[in-house]
Amino acid sequence: MDNHLSLYLHIPFCASRCSYCDFNTYAGKENLIPDYIKAIQKELRINRQMLVLNEPVHSIYLGGGTPSLLQAGEISVILQSIREMFNVNADAEITIEMNPGDVNKELAAQLAHTGVNRVSLGMQSSDARELKLMGRRHSPEQTLAAVEALKSAGITNFSLDLIYGYPEQTMESWQRSLQTALSCSPAHISLYALSVEEDTPLQKKIERGLLPEPDDDLTEEMYRTAEDILANHGFLHYEISNWARTAEKQSRHNNQYWLTDPYLGLGAGAHGNVHHVRTRNHGAIEDYLEAMQAPKNRLTGFPAAAEVIPQTELMEMQDFVILGLRLLQTGVSQERFERRFGVTLNEIFHYQIDRLIDQGLIIYGPDGRLLLPEASLFISNRIFREFV
Ligand code: SF4
Repeated sequence: MDNHLSLYLHIPFCASRCSYCDFNTYAGKENLIPDYIKAIQKELRINRQMLVLNEPVHSIYLGGGTPSLLQAGEISVILQSIREMFNVNADAEITIEMNPGDVNKELAAQLAHTGVNRVSLGMQSSDARELKLMGRRHSPEQTLAAVEALKSAGITNFSLDLIYGYPEQTMESWQRSLQTALSCSPAHISLYALSVEEDTPLQKKIERGLLPEPDDDLTEEMYRTAEDILANHGFLHYEISNWARTAEKQSRHNNQYWLTDPYLGLGAGAHGNVHHVRTRNHGAIEDYLEAMQAPKNRLTGFPAAAEVIPQTELMEMQDFVILGLRLLQTGVSQERFERRFGVTLNEIFHYQIDRLIDQGLIIYGPDGRLLLPEASLFISNRIFREFV
């Protein structure tokens, strides 16, 4: 959707670190939360003062880390600041990521009161042993209780995240996790293939032979099985890793990224893409707080940025194609490309497009849009590299 702005706010606090995680998040620093909220408010204010941002805000996303470590009052303060400074649509999608163990009826009701209308719940698995292996803090029962709490607060627009391809995970346990997720009637499901990241406890365990390497064939089989199961339950597979119960339940916020529409990234390590620049904020909480205390680069409009990378038109075109291909029905619209860049898709990428079409790795869909066919989903990264 053109002419709308989205806001991403990164909340880099976790009660403990999961075994596989290499996100920009920190355990044991919750004492910094009050200062962090003030810094985010200041960053919002400077963004507002220095940048020309006339577009109405149609999505706000609090991601992490574990935003559910914040109290409802703290979330309310942040959302209130945003509403005071930006033109937030009355029907804006406001999502918060939550750890199932943090959700109870009282918190869910309080969040609904602040205007949060979508929750992304880090379920990951319905198997207690797998959750333990992953180093997650919650139990399978807590996920079910969290879902009930959300529903009782009227938050039926919730998404469940699951991980597949984890060492020692089996096809049977994966199918059980999917069935349990479906029994919760989520509006949306995100499935993430495990990626073993450097210097994580998981990587060290695998290195020492305490856990087996992930099995790539089984991982792909799990993905294919999930596609079948979710299709049988009527879910729309709209992005490589994402399924929605109906077209309206797609993540508006994540679509903003995939459609390369503008968003501000606020908080430690957050990324933004607005006014033809990509931004990356200082990652460590202390560095972010220091940058916000006496912002040296206030005039740029990105006071906490460690990097501000101007985008050439070619870079934006590449992103447009690569991210657009992730959207399985929307794909890359030739008409939208031409409207945005004033040249046709073929004038820029005819060599890559012809070759990939010949190989059957991408196809033309309705009205000439480029799409990834089913068989290409698991090798999408290879296809995307062709456009760089
Ligand atoms: S809760 Fe999420 S962000 Fe925090 S350590 Fe676990 S996976 Fe990482």
